[in-house]
Amino acid sequence: MNVYIQENVKTILNTLPPDVLLEAAAKTRTLDQVNDAIASGINILGYNYVQEAEIMYRVIGSRVKWHMIGNLQKNKVNKAVKIFDMIETIDSVELAFSVNKACENIKKTMLILIEINSGREKNKTGVLEENVKTLVDQICELPFIKIKGLMTMGPWCDDPEELRPYFRKTKKLFDLLKEKDIHNVEMQYLSMGMSDSYKIAIEEGANIVRLGTSLFGPRNSR
Ligand SMILES: *Cc1c(COP(=O)(O)O)cnc(C)c1O
Repeated sequence: MNVYIQENVKTILNTLPPDVLLEAAAKTRTLDQVNDAIASGINILGYNYVQEAEIMYRVIGSRVKWHMIGNLQKNKVNKAVKIFDMIETIDSVELAFSVNKACENIKKTMLILIEINSGREKNKTGVLEENVKTLVDQICELPFIKIKGLMTMGPWCDDPEELRPYFRKTKKLFDLLKEKDIHNVEMQYLSMGMSDSYKIAIEEGANIVRLGTSLFGPRNSR
């Protein structure tokens, strides 16, 4: 057992508010590291790449929940729906339709979050806030997906405090959609915050935080 990972997981779990879920962003981590995190209390794994998740899933299986947190390519959708319990990065009608179709084939309902491009960055994944309602209306009746909330990354910032307005804006959008009480849409999860910003994200209403570095230590650059 890697005591460093164990300590990190336990300490963070102990300090999180009870309604906040801790997701381990596990990209590049070894099977041993991920298993140690699970043994220490992690029950959600986030992966950015289908291929990497697939390799780990073969060994770890459904003891934990699997979340897709990276840009999902269309040619990986069939594989992705077999592994993941939730796709946090839906940002287009086309992707939602394709996930719905793939799920229909295997008779599975996929939980999804809509990814918001809260920094309004060009060439970044996610939907702009003014387009979210239209996207939700276009995909909420699809029978094999279920909209469960929003996810955002926010722009890259030196000081995590600079992310606060982006988190706040996304929470506002979340509340607005929740108020509208759209058919088949359950605004339950707001996934925001990484190692350096999760405390701020929680203050701004996040209830899923995605942590890599603060659980496992620094990543080798990739
Ligand atoms: C890597 C990653 C994280 C975690 O990043 P850390 O800074 O290592 O905590 C969270 N979310 C996404 C989408 C990621 O790719």
